[in-house]
Amino acid sequence: MQIIKSVPRGYCHGVVRALNITSKAIRENEKPIYILGEIVHNKKISDAFLEAGAITLTGNTRKELLKTIDSGTVIITAHGIEPNLIVEAKAKGLSIVDATCSDVYKTHNIIKEHIDKGYEIIYIGKENHPEPEGVLGISDKIHLVSNIKDIEDLNIKNEKLFVTNQTTMSKYEISFLHEKLKEKFSNIKIIEEICDATSLRQDISLENSKKADLSYVVGDINSNNTNKLVEICKDLGKCKTFRIDSVEDINIEDLKKASVVHVTSGASTPTIITSEVIKFIEDFNPNDIKTHNNISKIELNRIIPRIKK
Ligand code: SF4
Repeated sequence: MQIIKSVPRGYCHGVVRALNITSKAIRENEKPIYILGEIVHNKKISDAFLEAGAITLTGNTRKELLKTIDSGTVIITAHGIEPNLIVEAKAKGLSIVDATCSDVYKTHNIIKEHIDKGYEIIYIGKENHPEPEGVLGISDKIHLVSNIKDIEDLNIKNEKLFVTNQTTMSKYEISFLHEKLKEKFSNIKIIEEICDATSLRQDISLENSKKADLSYVVGDINSNNTNKLVEICKDLGKCKTFRIDSVEDINIEDLKKASVVHVTSGASTPTIITSEVIKFIEDFNPNDIKTHNNISKIELNRIIPRIKK
């Protein structure tokens, strides 16, 4: 069996920075330490930080989650937050640690500049994802669009229209939606804001999935860039593709039938988890099948930066 490993795969600069910032905050900041949503979208990372002393709050909008915090430190996740909430958190006397990715801030700034110039904003992103939630909080002149139906429903009178997007969208899906927007609005200005990390992972994963008959995308179900890699390998690479959280999700029967297996991973997937997937496939022998019970379990403290007590 041949195995193709996409490079780059896994952690991007924004994720590495967010993990380092969180570890530093656990060491140095006032307790309790709360993370406003998952620091990056990977459950094992949130579990590891909980073990280390930072509580991840989930299940509601950032605004509602913030209402539940009265003391200590609040960490803003890599996806960013609406600017007003930082003001609110400071007013409550909370210590703020901002792990927002610089690429997300770049999009915020481009949007603010265009609003100041009188534009109304069409923002392509995923509903209920924290990055669009933060962007929509910048101004009521921003319209979220996720699909063709949303474009059909748009009713904007302003002739100055600016289109941009969430940093982790599929570049192929975005260009399709741009064409639909151009059909509907004759005069729109577009700046595509997919980050370089996402763009590179999509290009290489598409190329490699075309050469494989089975693709594994290692990553969390809540990770938008992971889910977009799955769509790209499956729909454009025409490859049988599965998103897996870890080696335990590999279906032995699928693997037995494959002759070329491609492995990639989302930007928030710990390297150690993807390495274990690759090793399992490299060692795979259909005549001597290793069961998942023989696979070593990864200790949580190995997937986050070292936290000295
Ligand atoms: Fe930043 Fe892109 Fe990584 Fe998101 S995927 S944290 S925007 S570099």
